[in-house]
Amino acid sequence: MSLIEDPILHAIEITTLAIRARSDAHWVIAFSGGKDSTASLKIFLAAYKRSNVSIPKITVIYCDTGVENPVLDAYVRGLLVEVENEVSNLGHRFETRLLKAPLQDRFFVRIIGRGYPPPTNNFRWCTTGLRIKPVSAFIEKQDPRNTVVVLGLRKSESDQRDRSLARSESLYWQKQREGKGEYDLFLPIVELDVPTVWDAIFWLDEPKAIDPKRLERMYRGASGECPIIKSPQAPPCASGRFGCWTCTVVRKDKSAKELIKSGYSQLAPFLEFRNWLADFRNDRSKRWNTRRSGAPGPGPFTIAARQEILKKVDELEDRSGSIIIDAEERGLIASLWGMDHFPRLNFKNAKQ
Ligand code: SF4
Repeated sequence: MSLIEDPILHAIEITTLAIRARSDAHWVIAFSGGKDSTASLKIFLAAYKRSNVSIPKITVIYCDTGVENPVLDAYVRGLLVEVENEVSNLGHRFETRLLKAPLQDRFFVRIIGRGYPPPTNNFRWCTTGLRIKPVSAFIEKQDPRNTVVVLGLRKSESDQRDRSLARSESLYWQKQREGKGEYDLFLPIVELDVPTVWDAIFWLDEPKAIDPKRLERMYRGASGECPIIKSPQAPPCASGRFGCWTCTVVRKDKSAKELIKSGYSQLAPFLEFRNWLADFRNDRSKRWNTRRSGAPGPGPFTIAARQEILKKVDELEDRSGSIIIDAEERGLIASLWGMDHFPRLNFKNAKQ
């Protein structure tokens, strides 16, 4: 047990010991750009510097869901390039990786292609396909037994997670099952509360590419980050989050609203679409009367409803000048419509 009372120094010390203990492992840092993963990255780098060991490989992973909030996505992508340069220049074997969801799991392929209703807390089909699966696939391709994943989980986020973490042998280390094997999760900020997380972000220097003030401005209104690891400790949906601009799991997208208020007006049409989609979901006339299984109850969106959503996305693409559904996704959507007996002729192919 450390005698250091400052919680940030304590976290750095525990992380230093962890790095020394697993100095031969591949360390993978899960990064979303949000406050928790930013603090974890900073604490990890501070601890690595103190550890005086040379880790064979450090990788920062970022999940590109294809529907990440465009302002935050641009911020994280730019940041990752700068961080990679900065840390590599220090002589460490450091890389960043963008992980993408498999085609069939992409948000609009599910909604427009297969007719899935937009996700809610009770039917949150999105997180597994968009975030957890790509991360699992990446780790499986490594040597899981020799991999440590650094995750920005904190014990105070919910009572359920507190109970679950309290049962674990060590607060900082967790075992994660993946397929037939398992790997270690290391939680550097597990004992920190929100103000201390922000203190760590402002107080720790490296990577210098991270501008704490900019992050704080962007973070206004967002209270959580979507989980990328399937575990009992994964946080529940928060009321606003660093995540997908399409997220209908939250009742209101406070994060986007705050960003628009603080000058990111380019997000306004995205937020409008998201609100429209959340209402559209509740219109029973847009759904089949039976589920795919044949059981009675609201089923997938009708083909007409899917067409309507696609038309709205096309309008949003025109308005925002961005590609929201790429050619590959459009191709799969067309095939999925074909499987639901839709005459393909009506499909807008112009952007394929
Ligand atoms: S941010 Fe929302 S839509 Fe995106 S994966 Fe998480 S819960 Fe699903």
